[in-house]
Amino acid sequence: MTQLPAEADVAVIGSGFSGLGAAIRLMQDGVDSLVVLERAADVGGTWRDNSYPGAACDVPSHLYSFEFAPNPGWSHSFSRQPEILAYLRDCARRYGLMPHVHLGHEVLEASWDDAAARWVVRTTRGTVRARVLVSAAGPLSDPALPDIPGLDAFAGTLFHSGAWDHGHDLTAERVAVIGTGASAAQFVPEIQPVAGRLHVFQRTPSWVLPRRDRPIGALEQRLYRRFPAVQRLVRTAIYLGRELYVLGFTVDRRLLRLASRVARRHLARQVPDPELRAKLTPAYTMGCKRIVLSDDLYPALCRPNVEVVTEAIERVRPHSVVTTDGVERPVDTIVCATGFRVTDPPIAHGIRGRAGRTLAEAWETGMRAYKGTTVAGFPNLFLLLGPNTGGAHTSVVLMAEAQHAYLRDAVRFMRTHGVASVDVRPDAMRRYGDTVARRMERTVWVHGGCRSWYLDRNGRNTTLWPSFVAGFRRRTARFDRENYRVVTSTMLPAEAPA
Ligand code: NAP
Repeated sequence: MTQLPAEADVAVIGSGFSGLGAAIRLMQDGVDSLVVLERAADVGGTWRDNSYPGAACDVPSHLYSFEFAPNPGWSHSFSRQPEILAYLRDCARRYGLMPHVHLGHEVLEASWDDAAARWVVRTTRGTVRARVLVSAAGPLSDPALPDIPGLDAFAGTLFHSGAWDHGHDLTAERVAVIGTGASAAQFVPEIQPVAGRLHVFQRTPSWVLPRRDRPIGALEQRLYRRFPAVQRLVRTAIYLGRELYVLGFTVDRRLLRLASRVARRHLARQVPDPELRAKLTPAYTMGCKRIVLSDDLYPALCRPNVEVVTEAIERVRPHSVVTTDGVERPVDTIVCATGFRVTDPPIAHGIRGRAGRTLAEAWETGMRAYKGTTVAGFPNLFLLLGPNTGGAHTSVVLMAEAQHAYLRDAVRFMRTHGVASVDVRPDAMRRYGDTVARRMERTVWVHGGCRSWYLDRNGRNTTLWPSFVAGFRRRTARFDRENYRVVTSTMLPAEAPA
């Protein structure tokens, strides 16, 4: 690994999909003074960390990949985690990024030096000063453990789905799973056959649709290899199909009725026991929470060694879990599939903009960013997959790639015009925020009768983009300098020392 340089034009935090893609694209534009700071020992972000049994993507592979790097070799319509991780590693290598990636460099703090127009980025292994800082730390990168009394004193094995303990054998164990979101839905069917007893603690049931995964045969792969346009066509068809979901989520919820009927039929077909079926029937509008795609979750929950517990957990004792009805269940292992710190990202506490104000302070009343990317008072900072860029219905890679276009155009503008800093105008940011909030009002995510990780503690949806991906792409196609305060190098008090 190369030594961290003292200076760089661009520093990227994180080497998941959004960070890797940004770095590759900037390099293609001729930005070679670039560092990628990665706290872990490998690239891959959430696809490196979420290696739990059965981990896979519920967005079709052809769409869940970079537009500039199609992979004709996907083995299934919905890729498994190892294949996605291998794809990301391959992209990093193939596009010559690895010499710029600094593994094991956790960012402790990044502070804006206004006089020098530089970000001073302090990591666990040295400091780099960068003109532009790209935060691609990822919305699903910091596991959230539940606030359950006694959990920290549990004497058995405890881990989060996002940091699976592969060294621990669950065979014949009494296992508690807390949470029933997209992660639990994937690993529960995998661990059910080996566990002795499996208690699945469910607070809210998910809507579950059939997954309908299929292997992609050698012939089809050869077709994509030989005629890349065919794969592009398939990708476009999937993209358009997924865009249709938006109508149901944001325009007219009656469109979700058909999908709800399919989900109810799926449940009725797979869960014959009426009592269990009642427990698993959601009481909120479909789409309010992330829809789960699974063919094997319900059958696993019907197995005799599985119990779905709907009473709330009161406390954890050193060797058991106690629910509010007073029942105590002895367990050897607890797996928390309780999601991530999405609306209070830890990285925000370490990024200091003008006057030393942290991003977390700027977001005291909730995360906000202009086009999900820039924040007033934080010059030359670009957030990838920042506030309101999530896609509940489609590939988040599309949103990241739209932001890459915006970032690239901004960097191009800065390089061409000798610009030292760009800082989004507060009024532009406010207007943009108002537009997003207005669009959000109509959505199922706010009015669907549930609480989800899409909402922050004030009930505001600061995570999802409330419209078509196409609309976001349009907004980010060009860096709109007119909405920024631009400082040229000649306006700086003194050029920063090299
Ligand atoms: P999640 O969707 O946030 O689910 C967390 C689960 O934990 C929910 O069932 C939640 O219940 C429960 N929970 C949280 N705190 C609890 C507490 N104190 N007591 C009891 N239950 C508690 O997390 P996730 O399943 O890891 O998924 C996160 C996101 O990652 C997904 O929405 C998706 O965007 C992505 N993901 C995607 C895939 C895929 O592509 N297939 C797979 C995994 C994850 P409530 O619902 O009542 O809050």
